[in-house]
Amino acid sequence: MSNLASKKVLIIEDERDILQLIKLYLEKEGFRTVSAATGAEGLRQVKHEKPDLVILDLMLPEMNGLEVCKRLRSVPETTMLPIIMLTAKADESDTIIGLELGADDYVAKPFSPKTLVARIKALFRRLERKPDDSPTQYRYGTLVMDLARHEVTVKKIEVPLTAKEFGLLEHLLRNPGRVLTRDVLLNTVWGYEYYGTTRTVDVHIRRLKQKLPSLNEAIISVKSLGYKLKELDRSA
Ligand code: CA
Repeated sequence: MSNLASKKVLIIEDERDILQLIKLYLEKEGFRTVSAATGAEGLRQVKHEKPDLVILDLMLPEMNGLEVCKRLRSVPETTMLPIIMLTAKADESDTIIGLELGADDYVAKPFSPKTLVARIKALFRRLERKPDDSPTQYRYGTLVMDLARHEVTVKKIEVPLTAKEFGLLEHLLRNPGRVLTRDVLLNTVWGYEYYGTTRTVDVHIRRLKQKLPSLNEAIISVKSLGYKLKELDRSA
């Protein structure tokens, strides 16, 4: 991860102590950091500083983190911007809503800075996978995934996906006809062990289907196991 050091991370968090702690750890790892104490300031910083990743606390004064997330996902420039939410452990519903709004990952408070750093690195790793590790393109009917350009098109029209959605789709396209368990998907796409929150996969799959209606029937839920992408006819 040689070029991790050049990455800029925006931390949106109103609790000073937590903000300082995150800053300290990230800078120790070589990241550059910028920070904001409110949602509105965070949005301004995104525009102004163009960070590579955002750490977003959900509990913020005035505009909360969910609203910030929604706004970031609603403009093309930041559709792909990696977002890791900081959530309160007790508030699972907020976490689910956050993932539905397009956050790529979350870390529940109280968290260890080490965990947060590991998740940030995992997310960057997914985005930086070298195109020559695997084919540069996948095709599925009218859908084309171009790995080098990090782009998905359907009938030549681009469909903006978040980092995790892109990762999930890539894994499905690479393994047509195979049942992929939630755990496998979590490990491959999220890059670490999750503890009892395989629902994350379901949320992301649902969003993927919403964005790609042509895959609605092709991605099959396999009861109590996971998901499978239907194999296409060879002639298709
Ligand atoms: Ca807070």
